Amino acid sequence: MFDSLSTKLDYAIKSLKGEGKITEINVATTVKEIRRALVDADVNYKVAKSVTDKIKDEALGQDVLIAVKPGQLMVKIVADELTNLMGGTKVDINLTGEPAVVLVAGLQGSGKTTFSGKLGYLLKKQNRNVLLVACDIYRPAAIDQLKVLGEQAGVEVYAEPENRNAVEIARNAIAYAKEQRKKVVIVDTAGRLAIDEQMMREIAEVKKAIQPTETLFVVDSMTGQDAVNTAKAFNERLNFDGVVLTKLDGDSRGGAALSIRTVVEKPIKYIGTGEKLDAIDVFHPDRMAQRILG
Ligand code: GDP
Repeated sequence: MFDSLSTKLDYAIKSLKGEGKITEINVATTVKEIRRALVDADVNYKVAKSVTDKIKDEALGQDVLIAVKPGQLMVKIVADELTNLMGGTKVDINLTGEPAVVLVAGLQGSGKTTFSGKLGYLLKKQNRNVLLVACDIYRPAAIDQLKVLGEQAGVEVYAEPENRNAVEIARNAIAYAKEQRKKVVIVDTAGRLAIDEQMMREIAEVKKAIQPTETLFVVDSMTGQDAVNTAKAFNERLNFDGVVLTKLDGDSRGGAALSIRTVVEKPIKYIGTGEKLDAIDVFHPDRMAQRILG
């Protein structure tokens, strides 16, 4: 995860570690290298500039120039700023409501269905009575996929394979969940390969009809800058509550993780780190910053 970014940041900071005497010029060079590493990792340029400006101010303000171990102090400053960039503290999913309703949206292939299964499994392990709902009416395989995941997770799946009305299915599912005294309903919606007006309208209608307690936007971290643009488009339409970054186990350059929070002003709540049901983690900005810095 983030191998290339980690290596480049390490290299940038190392140059300070070796310096006998630190000057403002050394700091400026280091900060510039950090900025380049971030941009290379697909971090939005404006975001990279603003965070490295802060790192520089902090470094000079905290007297890196006279620190006994300037390299170490710099690592701490960078870790703190990366943590802030990713939102500072973790933000939990909102599971209030009887039942709590979680709407899952995102492009096709982003990992929505897999995430729905993973979240169902995670919440089930916390002893919550969960219902998974298959609302992807365009891809029959998606219903089967969710059923398989539900079976593996030991979570019931609600589907109406003959029904072509996503709003109706979602409404019926909530009524069923109430009847069955389910505590959490996770609704997997249909995606498209690219932003599409009909898809957006449908998800917005489903959202309006079922009034979820939590709307999560799922995005593939491997798509770099595109991930941020897609997030913006979905947020304008859905005003979601949180982001799920998938495929962080791949050779993602990390840009999405670092820019999304700033660009859409919504917290990352979960990350996907593999195809298996338990490859899901609650997102902790500080732990991610540590991971990036190696
Ligand atoms: P959907 O179209 O958005 O529902 O996407 P899927 O859930 O079908 O996922 C698309 C592909 O990505 C599948 O092959 C999944 O196994 C894979 N996938 C999903 N999440 C992850 C992840 O966190 N890591 C990896 N490596 N693969 C994932």
